[in-house]
Amino acid sequence: MDTPTRTTTSLRPGTAPEWILDPSGSTDREQRSGGRAPRPRRRLFRLLVLLLVLATIGAGTAAAVVTAAIASRPDYPDTVVAGGTGAGSAVARGGGRPTAEDGYIADGDSLAVSDAAPAVARLDPALREALQQAHAAAAEDGIDLRVGGGWRSKAYQAWLLRDAVRTYGSTAEAARWVGTPETSLHVKGQAVDISPYDAADWLNRHGAQFGLCRTYDNEAWHFELSPSAVDAGCPPMFRDPTEDPRMRS
Ligand SMILES: [Zn+2]
Repeated sequence: MDTPTRTTTSLRPGTAPEWILDPSGSTDREQRSGGRAPRPRRRLFRLLVLLLVLATIGAGTAAAVVTAAIASRPDYPDTVVAGGTGAGSAVARGGGRPTAEDGYIADGDSLAVSDAAPAVARLDPALREALQQAHAAAAEDGIDLRVGGGWRSKAYQAWLLRDAVRTYGSTAEAARWVGTPETSLHVKGQAVDISPYDAADWLNRHGAQFGLCRTYDNEAWHFELSPSAVDAGCPPMFRDPTEDPRMRS
């Protein structure tokens, strides 16, 4: 087609079309139709848009308040906002609960030692390999050795620590049970909590041959890889994490 498109808006120098000057923002077509009153359906639509805008503002304000509250906490202030590789998780953004992406495993739940979930898949490969060997040996004794806790994001560890501070009443007492995002061997992928109890008990008796050792006297479930244990046996345990020099960095 070589016929030029017909334009309905004429622009003279120094003037603007009516729809630009009209502060109500109504279109030229509406002007021509005589400025009717809004029809009920249009009113409903405007009400819905208004509600949507208000809801968006409300959610944004709530998120800002939660983030500010967490950022101002005296204990481990910047770990939740900055932490972890659990990108997109609610807990990494400073609100909500940790998810499987953070390595979260609910209380009472457990995963197979070959599970593809981050809690297992992000463990140190040598630790995971040792676990799988131990799992096969335990199975011959009728024991199902499973992972009740494995790799965790920094955000998840910070969430656990805040929960422990509430439970134990002080950061010092909470640190006897829960490491910080900076020190926890779980965040480094170098520790695993074995489930259920009979499996942890089995590993306590047979783990050294796989290089798997309990670290703390007060945590019957917590194991780490100690390759020298295959020949030399497991090193002595710490009474609890507060005696572990690695927890003080
Ligand atoms: Zn542990």
